[in-house]
Amino acid sequence: MRRRPRVHHSGASAPGARLRLSPEESHHLARVLRARVGDALWVFDGKGREWAARVVGIDRQGVEVSLEQAREDPVECALRVVLYASLCSPERTDWLVQKSVEIGVAALRFVPARRGAVRRPSAARLERWRRIALEACKQCGRRLLPEVSLVEDWPEKSPGARAFWCTAQPAAPPLGRRLREESGPEEVWVAIGPEGGFTAEEARHFEATGWEAVSLGPRILRVETAALVACALVLHAWGDLGRGG
Ligand code: SAH
Repeated sequence: MRRRPRVHHSGASAPGARLRLSPEESHHLARVLRARVGDALWVFDGKGREWAARVVGIDRQGVEVSLEQAREDPVECALRVVLYASLCSPERTDWLVQKSVEIGVAALRFVPARRGAVRRPSAARLERWRRIALEACKQCGRRLLPEVSLVEDWPEKSPGARAFWCTAQPAAPPLGRRLREESGPEEVWVAIGPEGGFTAEEARHFEATGWEAVSLGPRILRVETAALVACALVLHAWGDLGRGG
């Protein structure tokens, strides 16, 4: 039997509600998966909720579904991990977006760092990353669609969060040790520099605004590897990556 499809509709609200799916979701369901009236599916709203649903109509305007009971099993992590990553090549960034959504990152913010040799992404690229994030949500069962955006600079740490900037400098304490020594807050920020590393000015900015320098071990990782390893360590120690279903 094929898997019960999961579709996204940002207006999903409550049991009994009837929704018309977007042209893309309708096409995929009706044409690719050949859904029929009466078929069961899941509908998630991208804001953290999901319902069992049934196809109630298929016509030229698209597919209509009716929501049934809400799903209550936990898939979203209570810990918000926000990744601030330098831009790397578009293909490697595609990979990073998909993987970080799968492991449970809450938001991805790309920063055109000083030494980053990569061009600013076009609006179409950003749209592509958002689509990859949505596809990753559909595939992995997440209900919260992570924000994917471009920000102008590394921010100052906000009071409620812990913030780690990853540096290959040997003097930095290992991230793993920091995570073992202390218990977790509600939000963690992770910053990853470009292939050329952070500038001295960027390092001063982090030190002056409450970020903690951490190491990811003795080997130099590429931007997307460092980003995924750092987020996975945080989600394992303080989030739900180390827990059973
Ligand atoms: N030549 C650069 C390395 C850049 S690697 C340098 O010497 O700093 C790209 C980014 O990945 C780095 O800026 C850092 O944020 C992260 N990174 C890679 N390897 C790391 C390591 N072993 N520990 C901590 N951060 C690392």
